[in-house]
Amino acid sequence: MIPPIAQNLAAVHDRIAAAAVAAGRDPAQITLVAVTKTHPWAFVAAALAAGQIDFGENRPEEAHEKFGAAPPAVTPAPRLHLIGPIQSRKARMAIACRPALIHSIDRPKIARKLSELAEEAGIVLDVLCEVNVAGEASKFGFTPAGLRAALPELLALPGLRVCGLMTIPPFAPDPAASQPHFQALADLRAGLIQAYPQVSWRHLSMGMSHDFEIAIAEGATLVRVGSAIFGPRP
Ligand SMILES: *Cc1c(COP(=O)(O)O)cnc(C)c1O
Repeated sequence: MIPPIAQNLAAVHDRIAAAAVAAGRDPAQITLVAVTKTHPWAFVAAALAAGQIDFGENRPEEAHEKFGAAPPAVTPAPRLHLIGPIQSRKARMAIACRPALIHSIDRPKIARKLSELAEEAGIVLDVLCEVNVAGEASKFGFTPAGLRAALPELLALPGLRVCGLMTIPPFAPDPAASQPHFQALADLRAGLIQAYPQVSWRHLSMGMSHDFEIAIAEGATLVRVGSAIFGPRP
């Protein structure tokens, strides 16, 4: 059964707008990325029909299957965001998806590989660097120090254009626990704006179904929301 996707989207947009206004921000600065991983095309179609344009997937194969098969008649065309870790052997598939933005550059090796393949394809990929601000050993992403060390190389890669930062805080039942992580990502960006003023750093991708309002209070420009729109994943 398809959940009431249009209604859920409207509710999430209302919550985004309320959180933005509460933080003294313009709601137009925040883009909702609807995360459709594990869900069938029918869910995407329902969201498209309700006016949703930005979609997130975390596996390149699944993204390609779903969005590569998007009926060309769909206007406006959906914009795909790749939000999950990309293995080197999946890099080619990631490029074939023609993502609007890759949120999850988490190590120099995948950055080099994607840049090489983007150059081959004659495109420049917009990417975010994923930062593990909590320093969890099990997590994907650069540590803040690791990112600072890698940036000179990342910024010089001809196939990539770095546009900001992304983080996934450790899961905690209390959404307020995410706040220090979001604040740390915003602070890191503030430092990088000073260090690299030539880079746009415009995006902070942070906040999921249970904590996006807190992320908006800390400056999120992209929130990645799945279950609040599409229901629980199988
Ligand atoms: C699945 C996923 C989301 C969405 O999670 P919900 O809790 O369902 O909103 C957001 N970001 C990433 C990186 C994900 O993999």
